[in-house]
Amino acid sequence: VTVRTPLLAGNWKMNLDHLQAIAFVQKLAWTLKDAHHDYTQAEVAVFPPFTDLRSVQNLIAADKLDIVYGGQDLSAHDSGAYTGEISGAFLAKLECTYVIVGHSERRQYHGENDELLNAKVKAALKHNVVPVLCVGETAEDLEEFGPSAVPVAQMRAALAGVSADANIVIAYEPVWAIGSGLAATEEQAEQVCAALRVALAEELGTDAAERTRILYGGSVKSTNIAGFMRQTNIDGALVGGASLDVAEFSSIARFQ
Ligand code: PEP
Repeated sequence: VTVRTPLLAGNWKMNLDHLQAIAFVQKLAWTLKDAHHDYTQAEVAVFPPFTDLRSVQNLIAADKLDIVYGGQDLSAHDSGAYTGEISGAFLAKLECTYVIVGHSERRQYHGENDELLNAKVKAALKHNVVPVLCVGETAEDLEEFGPSAVPVAQMRAALAGVSADANIVIAYEPVWAIGSGLAATEEQAEQVCAALRVALAEELGTDAAERTRILYGGSVKSTNIAGFMRQTNIDGALVGGASLDVAEFSSIARFQ
């Protein structure tokens, strides 16, 4: 049996400057240390804004912390005339373990489509940064196509041409549940994550499907995390709002 180490990931979005980031990560590490958190049992990752990454890297190295981190986006290109963009090579240089790809806010406000996200997934993999690929349906999609069709189609498109041994993470984030306070039920989330795993097996093979972590995201809090973590096909959470509160996010990381 493949054991998938749970991943509890905090997407800070456009919150916390680099000084606030240092204070936050220090406090988070202390809180988890106080609780005797075992990072081999549940990996804890933060996704700060780009301008914080160097500070977070230095702090984690200096204090030998077990928290890992990643970028919230990357360019599909390695370098060149792309004003404002950040490449996977730069994230790798900052020792980012992960990078979020295709968050619904990028899809919605920055017009990111399946083709671009496929290129971004490949760019991340090329630089050995693990893409956390976000997929999820809007309320209208849910009404029109049912629960799994849109997230499964988004995942298939983003993984086209990706090799079977690629190290990736999938985050199922129903758009209607993000920042709304209205999380999916455990059953709803499990149903879609199970469908994503079946599709993963079809795309990349059964080994990849067994090994790949699928997270749930959308109004996760300390009060609902345990229920999600009990589901067979949910291997962690991508947390937005609640990841900005140290006490709340450390409780989520411990999902008890
Ligand atoms: C997110 O944006 O990835 C997210 C899950 O947000 P929230 O937890 O605030 O719903």
